Amino acid sequence: MKVIPMIDVGVSNEPLREELMEACAQVLRSGRFILGEPVEAFEAEAAQYLETPHALGVSSGTDALLLALMALGIGPGDEVLCPSFTFFATAGAIARVGARPVFVDSCPHDYNMDPQAARPLISSRTKAIIPVHLFGQPANLCALMDLAQEQGLWVIEDCAQAMGARFDGRRAGSIGHLGTFSFYPTKTLSGFGEGGLLTTKDPEVFKKAHTLRNHGSARRYHHELIGGNFRMDALQGALLRVKLKHLEAYNAQRQAQALRYQNVLSTLPGIHTLQSSPQENSPPAPIPPDTHILLPSVFSQRESVWSLYTLRVLKGLRESLRQHLHAAGIASDIYYPKGLHAQPCYAPYAPPRQLPVVDTLCQEVLSLPLYPGLSEAAQSHILETLQAYRLQPA
Ligand SMILES: *Cc1c(COP(=O)(O)O)cnc(C)c1O
Repeated sequence: MKVIPMIDVGVSNEPLREELMEACAQVLRSGRFILGEPVEAFEAEAAQYLETPHALGVSSGTDALLLALMALGIGPGDEVLCPSFTFFATAGAIARVGARPVFVDSCPHDYNMDPQAARPLISSRTKAIIPVHLFGQPANLCALMDLAQEQGLWVIEDCAQAMGARFDGRRAGSIGHLGTFSFYPTKTLSGFGEGGLLTTKDPEVFKKAHTLRNHGSARRYHHELIGGNFRMDALQGALLRVKLKHLEAYNAQRQAQALRYQNVLSTLPGIHTLQSSPQENSPPAPIPPDTHILLPSVFSQRESVWSLYTLRVLKGLRESLRQHLHAAGIASDIYYPKGLHAQPCYAPYAPPRQLPVVDTLCQEVLSLPLYPGLSEAAQSHILETLQAYRLQPA
């Protein structure tokens, strides 16, 4: 049986083979493999796409976060607020600069950092907030930017899953003081190995990040700062330039697939959306008692790029639904099974309190296949399989 995977990067790369090979050949001919003209051109094009003045190509999304914190001079004695329900790197970068990650509970609507849960965690040591735009949907930047301004905090948007998403018409990564992106092959701008990007409006921060990227050296063998090697490969820059031109089309495909999931699934019994258009900061609507599955909800002023399509499967049915999908040749996956506040390595930082929304999400979330090139027939098969499960719950 042919399995429908969570993602297939081959289907979007294959039609670009000639162009990608030519981009490689040019770098090969140039004999320059680190930074250089292809990376500079990619940075300019990415900045334009992201509607932000400055973009810096770096070695990974993780390094973009690390570099952002270093450029802000955040270190020992400082605290940084971040979600618990995110990929490891968001908090890892904070701990690696010697600061303390302070884990914030999630909003049950969008799974992102809950601004109301963030406020009471701010102390005199807090220097920054890192909201993550999880699964492609921007976090509540309106409330978080207000909070940051009021408290004098930096905002670093972790846009690793949200390149091209919009909040109130503005691109994710252009609203906070800094933005960080990843080109890991499963991300929406899917790269060819490791790669990342840092964006900022602030020319001083940009200059410092630029120097830190190359061992704190703006002039050869003259080191003003202790930086690192956060440089992007020329091949990566050259290949990403080819893919960036298609990012809008990829995101549009993701949005169309998500819409189809929403439209079809919302007609099935026991499947609901928490609220069709929840108001910012409103308490979560009660979940109807017959609910088996909650569909993801998107706030009205946000545009998600759907890096993942993630359901909540209630009543302990997640594992049986996974098996039902698996038996029909459909992959599914759990992002994330455990909050960072509960990871052993963060025990020294963990709050002596529960993050109830995160703990619930970890028990319930299930992501379905969604990627550019997922065929209509494949999605029909997924939808029919879900419908059949509903008729015969295990
Ligand atoms: C993928 C990801 C990262 C890290 O990016 P890499 O390029 O893999 O280092 C950081 N934050 C989030 C939310 C991610 O999804």
